[in-house]
Amino acid sequence: MTAPHPTAGAWLDRYEGALLNLFGRPSLVLEHGDGAWVWDVDGKRYLDLVGGIAVNALGHNHPALVAAVSKQAGQLVHVSNFFTSVPQVELAERLLALTGAPEGSAVFLCNSGTEAVEAAVKLARRTGRTGIVAAEGAFHGRSTGALALTHKKAYREPFEPLLPGVTHVPWGDVEALRGAVDAGTSAVVLEPVQGEGGVVTAPAGYLRAARDITSEAGALLVLDEIQTGIGRTGAWFAFQEAGVVPDAITLAKGLGGGVPIGALVTFGPEISALLTQGMHGSTFGGNPLACAAALAVLDTIEAEGLLDHAREVGDHLAARVAALGDERVLGTRGAGLLRAIVLAGDWSAAVVTHAREAGFIVNPVAPDVIRLAPPLVVTAAELDLFVDALPALLDAATAATESQDPR
Ligand SMILES: *Cc1c(COP(=O)(O)O)cnc(C)c1O
Repeated sequence: MTAPHPTAGAWLDRYEGALLNLFGRPSLVLEHGDGAWVWDVDGKRYLDLVGGIAVNALGHNHPALVAAVSKQAGQLVHVSNFFTSVPQVELAERLLALTGAPEGSAVFLCNSGTEAVEAAVKLARRTGRTGIVAAEGAFHGRSTGALALTHKKAYREPFEPLLPGVTHVPWGDVEALRGAVDAGTSAVVLEPVQGEGGVVTAPAGYLRAARDITSEAGALLVLDEIQTGIGRTGAWFAFQEAGVVPDAITLAKGLGGGVPIGALVTFGPEISALLTQGMHGSTFGGNPLACAAALAVLDTIEAEGLLDHAREVGDHLAARVAALGDERVLGTRGAGLLRAIVLAGDWSAAVVTHAREAGFIVNPVAPDVIRLAPPLVVTAAELDLFVDALPALLDAATAATESQDPR
């Protein structure tokens, strides 16, 4: 076999010699990007339809993000939590305004999704109860606290025993949820759309039912919007479209446009009063650099109309995939620019490999499901490039699968 990526190959060898082997050998060594496009160290260009897993909301090298980060880096990168900064206060106020959270709501800033979930777990514990109900298929992070809420066995088992008291119920099943919530339940934690679980949207009415069930039981409803928030589904937050008011939401991924930042938003004075001075903290959390990046992301989503855009081009993508009329594609799931293409066989890994060779980055979120979470700035024409290529990618993927068949 010829080596089409000589420079990348050398870096990948060095990667394997230096990095802890948690991710296997990466498939690309990326060097720079622009909009929805990235280039590897050998100069090959790819259409990035994963966006750092729903992170690069503004795409790569967006001038507004570059300017905001550059300016802030020249002013102040970090201060301790003995002090605050203008971007920190502005970001917290902005998040409260965008969530429509009631008077007395508040924001805790951290550095990742997992940390936001950890803060939510501590919030829940402060109710005096210890039970937490999450859903089968859920992903809430990898720290030993958040991991207890994540459902996937392979992630959990090597580290058990985890935080006790967590129950997983079948996703979307209202009666199962009702049956699992009792006077010992501190919180129900749900994703409006299960992202890592395969882009599975909550059935209509499910989040509303979860709101009613938790309110009746005196438990918190925490919505994990780490993947769905910040415009991903075509609204600022998915809970707003579901017509429910949660007690808290967690944010991260798209919030900083690639600069690490997470947030817990607590709704109303009673919930916000559960965590008080000294109960939690973070050295880096709320630093002015990350906050300036997040403000630039929020400003740009607004200025460029990216909520409507995400909905429009996401619907366009789904319609174009349906119009292929390809029997190897069962359909699409999701909303806005969080989308899954569901295949009729376990071909997603092979499709992803062939797609990469053809210059597309997509994600095999399940053996038969391809996830797309591109930058919110991706154009309909760029999405069309992938849809047009899909039948040939499926030809190659299904041929490869057949030839590997031992029979
Ligand atoms: C990615 C993700 C997390 C974890 O976020 P990290 O930043 O990787 O710690 C938690 N919940 C959901 C819904 C996610 O998609």
